Amino acid sequence: MNRGRLLVMKFGGTSLGDAARFRQCAEIVGRAAHEERVIVVASAVAGVTDLIFRTIDAARHGDSAAAGTHLKKFESVHRELISELFAGERLAAAQEFLGQILARLENSVEALLALRSGISAETTDSLVALGERISAWVLANCLEQSDSPSEFVRAEEAVVTDSNFGNAAPDAEGTRVSCRRVLLPILERGAVPVVAGYSGATHEGRSTTLGRGGSDYSATIIGAAVKADEVWIWTDVDGVLTADPRICPDATTLPEISFAEAIELAYYGAKVIHPKAAYPAADAGFPVWIKNSFRPQAAGTRITSKPATVNSPVKSVTCVKDAVLLTLVTRRDVHPAELWGRLFLRLGHEHIDVLFATESSPEHALGLVLRKEDGDRVLRLINTLFRIELAQSVLNPVEANSVAVVAVLGESMKGTCGILGRVFSAVALRQVSVIAVAQGASELSICFAVPSASAAEVVRAVHDEFFAKADFAVPACLRPNVATLSGAR
Ligand code: ADP
Ligand code: ASP
Ligand code: MG
Repeated sequence: MNRGRLLVMKFGGTSLGDAARFRQCAEIVGRAAHEERVIVVASAVAGVTDLIFRTIDAARHGDSAAAGTHLKKFESVHRELISELFAGERLAAAQEFLGQILARLENSVEALLALRSGISAETTDSLVALGERISAWVLANCLEQSDSPSEFVRAEEAVVTDSNFGNAAPDAEGTRVSCRRVLLPILERGAVPVVAGYSGATHEGRSTTLGRGGSDYSATIIGAAVKADEVWIWTDVDGVLTADPRICPDATTLPEISFAEAIELAYYGAKVIHPKAAYPAADAGFPVWIKNSFRPQAAGTRITSKPATVNSPVKSVTCVKDAVLLTLVTRRDVHPAELWGRLFLRLGHEHIDVLFATESSPEHALGLVLRKEDGDRVLRLINTLFRIELAQSVLNPVEANSVAVVAVLGESMKGTCGILGRVFSAVALRQVSVIAVAQGASELSICFAVPSASAAEVVRAVHDEFFAKADFAVPACLRPNVATLSGAR
């Protein structure tokens, strides 16, 4: 067995789109496994998790035709995949494995259609985790077939979590024990463990999931549990870029960013890494690389605690396209702090993320900017929590408006003058009005809300302001103050 570094390599759905992509990922792992010890974490095939969610949704609304169509699609995607990859006994084994997964999905759909009842978060988790189960099995067999010894590992055997179904938190000690018991012996045998991402299990063995996009998180949780030297997240872009390349095609790759920047970037919509994935790495102290499985030769982005300083104070511009601004206004003769205190406490208990909040004391107004999917829930919560205040007109009826949140990020903005001016001049030149603004005390990000329809245009405008080639020479007064920065770190 080689005694090289211990690497965890995670392949996202975008890297596992079809048979050719599976072969490419197996080749990347096979090559690395000659020199290093590699643990693989696999996402579901691109689009499959959405498909399972749609199947469940159709079934629970009694739409048997739509549920049947989605099930057929699930089956055909995987049948095509395995028949292109395998032949003979391995194909028969793959068909058998797919058959078991399909049976599990079909039985659940039938039960939902018959009962017409809701579905628990626990059952949902056990079904949506099936996408990763089959893709990890296929990738492990792909590796075996290409002469890289490999063993498939169910997520439930490796990752131990609490029972917050749909958004479970890892139990670091339980996961450490499981991973060491299950994964290290496979490495000792000279094989590559291929673990299903996105999910885990409670101590009692009930399946859970880590939230959408959670396979990145699986990789760093496992990395911390086995004391990996590095985690490599393989995706479909060259690394973390100065903006989402789908919005700014001229976005460039950042060689290094900090864990804090990665967390902020992900929180404000950059899908390239899960918002929680940086935590286990930052705590354990190993770097995370973002790399392109379509261009493995590209260097990628290194996420670390101390990235090298870059020229531009702004590192990236991101956006949450679908957000909602709730505006709460109280009567002027009441002191609103107590109301807002109760509200934030409740949001905390309900695990609802606030993208940002603004408070204007003279106007007795609170602006809460939330992800769109949380908007209705929070409105209901406010109407229940403040039913007396609303009935007595202490609080005005809450206004809800769709907005997009744009975030301008970079640790070096701290101590650099003039960033806000440049950001808002760029937005004003596009004749877009800014609805609400927040700059965190950490000065890691500037967030502002704009009309949803203007989101992409604003991201491009701000990106051009800081990264357009012609304008790349940043005036001296806007360059980061390196002395302040090093003192601040
Ligand atoms: P995977 O399937 O590999 O997990 P995701 O779709 O979750 O991949 O994340 C990769 C995508 O993130 C990219 O295709 C890109 O469009 C998007 N993205 C958004 N913002 C950024 C950014 N700042 N840098 C890189 N990618 C970004
Ligand atoms: N397949 C899951 C999702 O689509 C997890 C992941 O891809 O990271 O959310
Ligand atoms: Mg992802």
